[in-house]
Amino acid sequence: MLRVSRMPSGEPEIFRSVQGEGVSAGTPTVFLRLATCNLACSWCDTKYTWDWDSYDFDQQVMPMQESDLEKRILDFDLPHLVITGGEPLMQQKALAPLAQSLKQRGFFCEVETNGTLAPQQEMVDAVSQWNVSPKLDNSGNDQDRREVPEALQAFRDLDSAYFKFVVVGPSDIDEVLGLIEKHDLPADRVILMPEGATAAAINDRGRWLAEACAENGFRFSTRLHILLWGDQRGR
Ligand code: SF4
Repeated sequence: MLRVSRMPSGEPEIFRSVQGEGVSAGTPTVFLRLATCNLACSWCDTKYTWDWDSYDFDQQVMPMQESDLEKRILDFDLPHLVITGGEPLMQQKALAPLAQSLKQRGFFCEVETNGTLAPQQEMVDAVSQWNVSPKLDNSGNDQDRREVPEALQAFRDLDSAYFKFVVVGPSDIDEVLGLIEKHDLPADRVILMPEGATAAAINDRGRWLAEACAENGFRFSTRLHILLWGDQRGR
């Protein structure tokens, strides 16, 4: 059984769109949003997956059997899946059989993770791309919660892992450089993305951040879904 985010309509948050962020931005894909998270980022735009002071668990979360989820995913007839959250690896034991079954059907499976939980081998075998987003001080999480060396180093050793940092201000760049050095992260798989839940915020921060990426040799990512649709669920 997996805890899946529930849309206001009552349906599970499984939808078709284009990947909005990171190295595969623009790719048509099915999204599966899982509930619960082990961090609490101040600027999180999916607080309904974990903030039970502000949201009602029973309204926002639906338990679903893996077989029901797989059927809904297959109904889209699009063999590319992004598993997001929340933090999907909190449920990796239950998630692995679904990811493995989809891989056998020829799916390309991406997982979005905050990089604090090392992936189990069953998940490593099934997942084609890891979008690891380690959180910086700007997230408001204590360092010992957001920076877990064993987990970061496990992802570092996977060629399929990209490291996407959410940047708020110029001082964040120094923090990213420090993390790269400390954990020996591959700079050619580092992506910097502006924080923001509106097109204006993304574009304002994006302009100077793109220049900082060019200066430092990092990839830049915008947030396509925010530019196109704003902060809407199911997009
Ligand atoms: S790790 Fe992701 S889902 Fe969890 S609080 Fe931070 S932004 Fe939100």
